[in-house]
Amino acid sequence: QAKQTARHSWRFYTPALQHHSDRLLRLSTALAQALPRGELRLQYQPQVSLRDGRIVGAEALLRWRHPGLGEVAPAEFIPVAESSGRIVEIGDWVLREAVAAARRWVDLPQAPYVAVNVSVPQLLQPDFAARVRELTARAGLPPQRLELEVTESVAAGGLEDARRTLRSLVEAGFAVAIDDFGTGYSSLAYLRRLGFARLKIDRVFVQDIGRDADDEAIIRAIVQLAHTLGLSTIAEGVETVEQARFLAEAGCDVMQGWLFCAALDEADFVTLVRKHDAAGWHARWLATPAA
Ligand code: C2E
Ligand code: MG
Ligand code: MG
Ligand code: MG
Repeated sequence: QAKQTARHSWRFYTPALQHHSDRLLRLSTALAQALPRGELRLQYQPQVSLRDGRIVGAEALLRWRHPGLGEVAPAEFIPVAESSGRIVEIGDWVLREAVAAARRWVDLPQAPYVAVNVSVPQLLQPDFAARVRELTARAGLPPQRLELEVTESVAAGGLEDARRTLRSLVEAGFAVAIDDFGTGYSSLAYLRRLGFARLKIDRVFVQDIGRDADDEAIIRAIVQLAHTLGLSTIAEGVETVEQARFLAEAGCDVMQGWLFCAALDEADFVTLVRKHDAAGWHARWLATPAA
């Protein structure tokens, strides 16, 4: 009986699997041309202080528009780029673009830093740390203005080489943030020893604020843990005022999400930073309403 069910479901899923692997192959082939054909671009999503409403930085987010496939989501093409190794070349381009942008922002109010997502295959390049140092030095960007976002996998077991790369970047003054924190398996010992700057609380916890007491307790615990270890915290995927107020009250330092702003083209980000009224925004959305 079980066998028969398995056989049926196999037959049922075969066309879907075939379709899936066709799509992956197509993406992988198209991705090889994306950079030379100028199909990639970056957008920047503001990060806002929960203490005073100031725009402290922006996360660079990669965008890909292919002439035939249209706009392809990073959640779909980044894993393809990672497994083909293409992410090394693309990630290098992302770093150069983001560093050049942050260099243009040094005269803006607060001189926002740029946060760049970095994949494990990039960290495993033996010359990665040297390249980042060289790139920022040549652009004239102080290392403090570049934050590298890495996933929790590098703070778990294994990946000793990736951690060595991160340690040397931290020693050179770059900030490292652990992205999507709380969904994987970080070693608390590593978090402290490696000198990471920030924990980025995953959206899955943020989205259920007000509905799920467990998620709220987890957020409070992450914020306390981070502060005890000398790290700051940022919450991602903040969409509602209720979420922002809870996070501010829990002591979370910074937020990022559609409540404030989605990712923007650089010109629009710069315009926003210039006209942003931090105190007004803070008073409107975060200050405790008068009783
Ligand atoms: P991530 O680093 O966790 O980035 C946050 C994602 O959440 C972004 O998705 C962002 O657009 C989205 N987001 C921001 N605010 C909200 C919100 O309020 N609600 C919801 N539902 N979503 C929000 P995006 O741009 O599609 O990127 C997805 C993932 O792709 C990123 O997750 C990151 O892991 C990866 N990625 C993006 N750009 C790069 C890159 O340049 N290099 C590498 N290696 N990975 C990248
Ligand atoms: Mg990120
Ligand atoms: Mg994230
Ligand atoms: Mg939940």
